[in-house]
Amino acid sequence: MVGPDLVRIDLHTHSTRSDGTQSPTEVMAAAAQAGLDVVALTDHDTSQGWAEAASAAAGFGLQFVPGMEISCVFGQMSVHLLSYFHDPADDALHGEVSASRTSRITRAERFVASLATEVDLTWRQVQAQVAPGATVGRPHIADALVANGIVADREEAFADLLHAQGRHYVSHYAPDLIAAIGLVRAAGGVPVLAHPRARHRGSVLSDDQIQALAQAGLVGLEVDHRDHTQSERAALRELAGPLGLIMTGASDYHGDGKPNRIAENLTHPQMFAELVAAAGA
Ligand code: AMP
Ligand code: FE
Ligand code: FE
Ligand code: ZN
Repeated sequence: MVGPDLVRIDLHTHSTRSDGTQSPTEVMAAAAQAGLDVVALTDHDTSQGWAEAASAAAGFGLQFVPGMEISCVFGQMSVHLLSYFHDPADDALHGEVSASRTSRITRAERFVASLATEVDLTWRQVQAQVAPGATVGRPHIADALVANGIVADREEAFADLLHAQGRHYVSHYAPDLIAAIGLVRAAGGVPVLAHPRARHRGSVLSDDQIQALAQAGLVGLEVDHRDHTQSERAALRELAGPLGLIMTGASDYHGDGKPNRIAENLTHPQMFAELVAAAGA
């Protein structure tokens, strides 16, 4: 029998279909290079990279897991929800992420208009950083700021100019978290909270709120993620157990866009088996 450490599973990566810096094929190549056996592509608010990734993964002998990371709101809080194995053609789910993607374009344009009062930046320069059809995000604005020599990297752009509490920040339409959990389930998908205790992004969900989400149909929590301390991971494990939530681990790889290295955190094969079993339920 193959031991748990011999099946390497990373369930959270991004490509140029959103804010990663590598194509879906290049992400799959990086996954193979890192010795992964199973890898998910989870671009923000889009399933458009699946076909390319699936075919590249097959060529590398990798098991491909189709996924998506949905930007949601929970009250005033911004929360990321991972969805696995959903039907990408499901009208209700596709309608919500399409609305979010459209709103992201006007939002980025308004963001740039505000930034342009302070730094040398045009909307055209930002558009040049976005692959055709990709989900537009702050990282693309960051890349244009880097190209213009205003900041050294994405990290520096987010520290001030693009900060969520900053003077230029503009929000975009995003579905309600509880509604999104229902839409993912209705589309045959498995909803998992992405980096639920990543505090640097702002306020995070409480234990009670996560319990309410479990009652609303949430299936899992991303526990092993670089934005969680060891004590936060331990606390999430204690929370997930009694609620019957699956626990995952993943890199949140963005190519060169973030320091996160592919395969730096992994999902236990038993947890992955439960996630697969939950699909279509
Ligand atoms: P948006 O969805 O447009 O609000 O942008 C959020 C995205 O920016 C997230 O998905 C992260 O991948 C990325 N991001 C957030 N903070 C940083 C950072 N410090 N460095 C690089 N990327 C970041
Ligand atoms: Fe991202
Ligand atoms: Fe995220
Ligand atoms: Zn992510």
